Amino acid sequence: MTALPLSLATFTPESAPAVAPDALLGLYRRPSMELVRGSGVRVFDADDHAYLDFTSGIGVNALGYADDGVAQAMQEAALTGLLHTSNLYHTRPAARLAAELARLSSLDRVFFCNSGAEANEGAFKFARRWARELGGAAKHEVLGVRGAFHGRLFATLAATDRPKYRAPFRPLAGGVSVVERDLRTLEHVLDGEAVAALVVEAVQGEGGVRVLDPGYLGEVRELTRARHVALICDEIQCGLGRTGWMFAYQRAGIVPDLVTLAKPLAGGLPMGAVLMTSDIANAIRPGDHGTTFGGGPFVASVALHVLERLADPSLLAHVSETGEWLGEQLAALAARSGRVRAVRGIGFMWGIDVMQPAAETIRRALDAGLLVCSAGEFTVRLLPPLVATRAELSEGLSMLEAALA
Ligand SMILES: *Cc1c(COP(=O)(O)O)cnc(C)c1O
Repeated sequence: MTALPLSLATFTPESAPAVAPDALLGLYRRPSMELVRGSGVRVFDADDHAYLDFTSGIGVNALGYADDGVAQAMQEAALTGLLHTSNLYHTRPAARLAAELARLSSLDRVFFCNSGAEANEGAFKFARRWARELGGAAKHEVLGVRGAFHGRLFATLAATDRPKYRAPFRPLAGGVSVVERDLRTLEHVLDGEAVAALVVEAVQGEGGVRVLDPGYLGEVRELTRARHVALICDEIQCGLGRTGWMFAYQRAGIVPDLVTLAKPLAGGLPMGAVLMTSDIANAIRPGDHGTTFGGGPFVASVALHVLERLADPSLLAHVSETGEWLGEQLAALAARSGRVRAVRGIGFMWGIDVMQPAAETIRRALDAGLLVCSAGEFTVRLLPPLVATRAELSEGLSMLEAALA
């Protein structure tokens, strides 16, 4: 057996002959460069050009690239030979990871799956199962709010407020829809007997990086509790440290009935999770839901390591303090440039409303050596790795400023 390179950070892959990516389905407009390796907060293309990555693979690579701890966790997990077992059998990593997530979130039970959309689909099903015991089959509606993004599968798309994503695929799943976000509308809608669940992101990501007010979230918690409607917090993007809080809902001092996680959970390996109260869990029977891959021992072992790192109070303090500084820097940059309409965000999650389409700024930033993404047509989104230092962030901000000029 060939040993893994001792340090991933110094590893250079052998170059393979270039292949035109023509066989890939055309869902993305990708730039022409090809990424071949990563180290810290940087990725490198086939010509060894470095790019500072302020997308983190869309909020996934919280610990950056080539992290030694993640590499070691992968190596140890691989050496057991037990990459996958199916959920027909107990394995220790999934049990330990579930216990740790329950402890950190103040919830009770955990279901593992493989992606964000899959976690939300699971949460919708669990909420409906619970609601059916309370109010019969009539109590089944799942509601998302204005600006929401919950995934691209049929039910999650129906809870997502993006006409462009939805229109070509109608009819979407029944019994799932989007409502206005304001409290008066919500109160009115939740009074209906049919509502089983309301799903919200404490910080809306794809919807333009909108930080929901803690007071608003508190009211939403009260409204849903009083009407026996399950509150689902989608923490797939804003959760696990990105806001400086382990979970973004904790900023409002609330505990939801269900929480969904994915993006950073397993350090770049695909993994999702649904966390829930024992009330919800008690309504679920064996056979109600399932997954072949979810919570396998390899991915769960890596997630255990990632979770331990993300829950470290010193990392959360770094995100919180540096995030505040980052917000100040962005506000100053916006004032200097005169080409920014608004800056919104918290922690290491920021949106910048620009005057031309965001795609233009993203392309110019790439040319300057910085990867950023969009959150809607006119919003540039920054999701740097949580381990990024002020010096690295400053470097990226200079590139962003040049791209805006
Ligand atoms: C990315 C995202 C999802 C979907 O996750 P996938 O893994 O792409 O299915 C759902 N909700 C939020 C808030 C997200 O940011």
